[in-house]
Amino acid sequence: MQVLVLNSGSSSIKYRLFDDHADGLRLRARGLVERIGEATGRAEQVVLAEDGTTSQEVEDLPVPDHVAGFRWIVSRLEAVGLADDLGAIGHRVVHGGAEFTAPTVIDEAVIARIEAQVPLAPLHNPANLTGIEVARQLRPELTNVAVFDTAFHATLPPAAYRYAVPERLLSEQGVRRYGFHGTSHAYVARRAAAALARPEEELKLVTLHLGNGASAAAVDGGRSVETSMGLSPLEGLVMGTRSGDLDPAVVFHLIRQAGMSPDEVERTLNRESGLLGLCGDNDLRTIEGRAAEGDEAAQLALDVYVHRIRKYLGAYTAVLGQLDAVVFTAGVGENSDTLRAAICADLDVLGIRVAAERNDGQRAADAPDGVLAIHADDSEVAVLVIATDEEREIAEQTLLAIRS
Ligand code: ADP
Repeated sequence: MQVLVLNSGSSSIKYRLFDDHADGLRLRARGLVERIGEATGRAEQVVLAEDGTTSQEVEDLPVPDHVAGFRWIVSRLEAVGLADDLGAIGHRVVHGGAEFTAPTVIDEAVIARIEAQVPLAPLHNPANLTGIEVARQLRPELTNVAVFDTAFHATLPPAAYRYAVPERLLSEQGVRRYGFHGTSHAYVARRAAAALARPEEELKLVTLHLGNGASAAAVDGGRSVETSMGLSPLEGLVMGTRSGDLDPAVVFHLIRQAGMSPDEVERTLNRESGLLGLCGDNDLRTIEGRAAEGDEAAQLALDVYVHRIRKYLGAYTAVLGQLDAVVFTAGVGENSDTLRAAICADLDVLGIRVAAERNDGQRAADAPDGVLAIHADDSEVAVLVIATDEEREIAEQTLLAIRS
C-alpha cells in the first residue's frame, strides 16, 4: 500500500508519497505545488526510483485553486505509476486543540471538530482543512487521516500547560499552552533513544527544533512535559520572522500608543519580527555570513537567538530534573555547526560538552542514518544532531490510525 502525506498551506501544497514495506516506509516521491491562486504557479515533483536514482520535473503553470493543485499531484503520481496502490492520505493539521490527542481517521464529524479549532489557529487550520476537503472530494474512496502538530504535547501536565489567567479563559476560550512541531519532537526523541541504544521510557531529553519556526520541548520517558510554543506557534524561541516570547503588554502598548490594529500587531509579531525584525534577514545562512563580515545587527540577531535557546535549555533541565541528551534538528539545528557550538558553549554546569572536531563542518544529512553525536567523551549529556522527517512521521501515524 502507498501513503500520500499532504501539507496544505494557504498558497501551497507540499506532498510526499511512501510505499509501505515490511522493513518500513520507503519514500518514492516528493513534490510541491506553490503560488496557488496567483497568475503563474509552479509545481515540482521528484521521483525516487527503487535503484536509488532520482528524476525531477518542474512545471510553470497557473494553479487557480487547491483543487487544481491536488489534481496536478495525482496526475503526476499516476504518470509515474505511483498512484496505483494508494490506500490513505495523511494530512498535517496544525491545531488539534485539546480535542485531538492522537492521529484521527477523518469523517464529517471530525471535520466539524477540526473546524471548531479554527478560532485557535486562524492562520493555519483553514488551509489544512481545504487540503482535506479537496482530497475527499476528488478521491472519496481513500481513507484520510489527520495528524496534529499539537498531539504529542497532549501529555503536558497542568502546571506546564496552564497560563496564570482566570479559569474562564481556559474553559470558555481555550486559552492554554498547546505546543506545536509535535511530529518532529516525537520523531527525533524516538530516534535519539535508538541512537543511544536506550529505552525511550528511561530518557530525559531536550529537543530543539530550529527551522524557520522554532520550538523546544522537554521529553520525559517519551512524553512531552513542556514546550516553548503556546496557544499559537508565536510563543517561545526567536524564529525567522516570529518574535517568540515578549511581555504581553507590548501588544496593548502598540494598540494604544502606536495606534496599530490587532491585525497589524499580529502581522508584525508573526511576519516582521524574529531574526528578520532584528537584522532585516530571516535566513540564517545569510545572517551568519553577514555576522562573519562584522555586521553588528546580524551578530546581535544571532546573540538574541542563542541567548533565548540557552535560557530554555537551562529551564527545561530544571523541569526534567536530569538531562540525558540534547537533540538538535530542523534546518538550523541540522546544518549550523556555529550555532550549535554557541548554544552549547560553557555549559559544564548542565554537564554539556561539545567536541569541536565532531561538530565543526558537520551536517545531519552527511551522517549515516542522519544522526550525528557531537558531544565530547567526558560530556555527561549526549548532544545529538538528528535529521527530522515530519512527513515520514505523519505517514507512520496515518498507518497506525487506520490499523487501530
Ligand atoms: P521550515 O520551518 O520552513 O521547515 P527549515 O527546517 O527548512 O524550515 O529551516 C530553515 C532554516 O534553516 C533557514 O533559516 C535556513 O537558513 C536554515 N539553514 C538551512 N541550511 C543551513 C545551513 N547550512 N547553515 C545554517 N542555516 C541553515
